Amino acid sequence: MKNVPEIFGSMVFNDNVMREKLPKDVYKKLIKTIKNGERLDLELANVVAHAMKEWAIEKGATHFTHWFQPMTGITAEKHTSFITQGDGGSIRMEFTGKELAQGEPDASSFPSGGLRTTFEARGYTAWDPTSYAFIKDNTLCIPTVFCSYGGEALDKKTPLLRSMEVLEKEAKRILKLFGHNDVGRVYTTVGAEQEYFLIDRELYLQRQDLRYCKRTLFGACPPKGQELEDHYFGAIKPRVSKFMEELDSELWKLGIMAKTEHNEVAPGQYELAPEFSITNIAADQNQLMMELMKVIAEKHNLTCILHEKPFAGVNGSGKHNNWSIATDTGMNLLEPGNTPWKNKQFLLFLVAFIKAVDEYQDLIRVTTASASNDHRLGASEAPPAIISIFLGEELTEMLEAFGNSKYKAKDREDMEFGVHYLAKLTKDLTDRNRTSPLAFTGNKFEFRMVGSSLSISGPNIILNTVVAEALSQFADTLEKSSDFEKDLDELIKDAFAKHKRIIYNGNNYSDEWVKEAEKRGLYNLKSMPEVMPRFITKKSVELLTKHKVFTEVEIHSRYEIVLEEYIKVLNIEALTLIDMINKNIIPDSIEYSGALSKVAERKKNLKIKFDVEKDLIDKINGLTKSLSDKLKKFEGYIAEGKKISDVQKSAKFYRDKVLNYMDGEMRPIIDELEKTVSKKYWKLPTYGDMLYSLL
Ligand code: ADP
Ligand code: MG
Repeated sequence: MKNVPEIFGSMVFNDNVMREKLPKDVYKKLIKTIKNGERLDLELANVVAHAMKEWAIEKGATHFTHWFQPMTGITAEKHTSFITQGDGGSIRMEFTGKELAQGEPDASSFPSGGLRTTFEARGYTAWDPTSYAFIKDNTLCIPTVFCSYGGEALDKKTPLLRSMEVLEKEAKRILKLFGHNDVGRVYTTVGAEQEYFLIDRELYLQRQDLRYCKRTLFGACPPKGQELEDHYFGAIKPRVSKFMEELDSELWKLGIMAKTEHNEVAPGQYELAPEFSITNIAADQNQLMMELMKVIAEKHNLTCILHEKPFAGVNGSGKHNNWSIATDTGMNLLEPGNTPWKNKQFLLFLVAFIKAVDEYQDLIRVTTASASNDHRLGASEAPPAIISIFLGEELTEMLEAFGNSKYKAKDREDMEFGVHYLAKLTKDLTDRNRTSPLAFTGNKFEFRMVGSSLSISGPNIILNTVVAEALSQFADTLEKSSDFEKDLDELIKDAFAKHKRIIYNGNNYSDEWVKEAEKRGLYNLKSMPEVMPRFITKKSVELLTKHKVFTEVEIHSRYEIVLEEYIKVLNIEALTLIDMINKNIIPDSIEYSGALSKVAERKKNLKIKFDVEKDLIDKINGLTKSLSDKLKKFEGYIAEGKKISDVQKSAKFYRDKVLNYMDGEMRPIIDELEKTVSKKYWKLPTYGDMLYSLL
């Protein structure tokens, strides 16, 4: 058994280490930077860098890197060793404050969405001292932001930090009105529950589609899917459990509070939930978590798949982004307390959230958009593409009746198990609704629409900003008020009345909801080419530039990057499918029908009936002929798509002509062939092989 408290954070230059390794005055100054956001000077950085290096070398590190999150969605690093030339051919291990505080990676190979034409290739990384440095692969990793020569953000972290500052500013204005003058900092907090699939590595390697596209492009449904629901929370298989054990311990070393691990609904699907933390740290940690999942899986001869929909017909993977607002005085601003109907501060923050989501549904939807998440949203057991909020009956009733003196709210009840010696538990104010994209879960909102492979920065940048905007409008009204209580009541009542159409407590997976949402005038933006233009509307741009979360140039560059990526992903999928059809599907099918013909021939000579063989041969010939015809048409579409230079038009074309043709016209034929061809000839692993590989 490992000594968990001993290994926890052992690879992190955290508060304890800083206190131990840094001179007292330096430590105090650094903490001021971390806690109060004060600017950092280079002299201080020199001392910190030296202590960091000594500590890192003690732990076996030889290199350092600025660790950042460019627009590729994964993290980037460029390792530099501490080695510096010393006297007489000797070497010294050195790390300066300048190296700690700032780096200059070449930005030209990272996506910049046209920003490259307006700035030099040079990019800058700058230390984010609020996120601790850590050691990974014998390398000291310094969490940084990544900007262009002109100061435009080229990463996901810069705007996240900006949005956190905006929310903090506006929330503090509100808190002041409630008399909380003691609040120093306001943070948004996030706990990101991560879903993923594990499959046997050997099988993974045999599927080009998984290797190149991270999803299967075809595959017939196995006789047993997830209908028995026997996987969810079931006992964890020994091989998976060994993987989880190692993952936990590596995460703990990096100071990541991996807390719960369990089987998910689909066979081969799992979830890991960490303890929540301040949003930028949660974002860093989620990136590390995804990276380690992949690396450690390999060691166990497994492959971790983070794609949102690797297998059609079974559940996809999401990332449940639990979001709340906390103060340095220990308040959770979304905590209702025992008498929520009297807790007007809570109700004000709650209606701010409701207003924000209703007013910027489309922008929130933008943050969950990707080629891969398009397959998940609206499919089996995933939220639809419609944004709505689940509040639960009680809170909804409470807000409906707000201001009505006759309304009698219930006190929060104890749970009744019917067994007297079980510990008394207070019921949460709301029950669960697993179908809602944005569910209130007691003292936080759980944003379930986020895809499993996405960085959580995007969704949180927007959640922070839209809520900040609502709070800012509220503060504008209330700061001018001469009768605070009266105006506050009116504000809560009005905001709820105006925005309650966004609340839906029913089953989001039902068809009725789609119709109802349309009646209510809510957006139902199903796929990337419809979603992305909502990012560059006048309203979105005004909001984001007003709060200085993005400049207009940054918004347009991101719009281009995301759509370009969409087109590239679809193009890779198309080429992979063609490759698999030519190298596997058609040859395997022909080989089988050839073998059948031989049997039929022999039977014919022996004057034995060969109807079954003939039927099969006809079926396979029909299917392969039809597939080969469609392939020609498909190749034509791809050639046509390549000629379109406008990203918006190209994205639409790829969705309508390439993706839809692939999924709707070609896949059914391939799946039918898979079901028809004998296992001996169909060499690719099937869904059944892959999903039930970890016994
Ligand atoms: P639940 O029972 O609602 O799932 P858990 O305590 O299991 O609640 O938390 C689920 C996820 O939500 C975890 O990752 C947890 O850290 C996170 N979480 C809990 N409280 C907060 C909060 N105040 N802010 C952000 N995330 C939170
Ligand atoms: Mg959850």
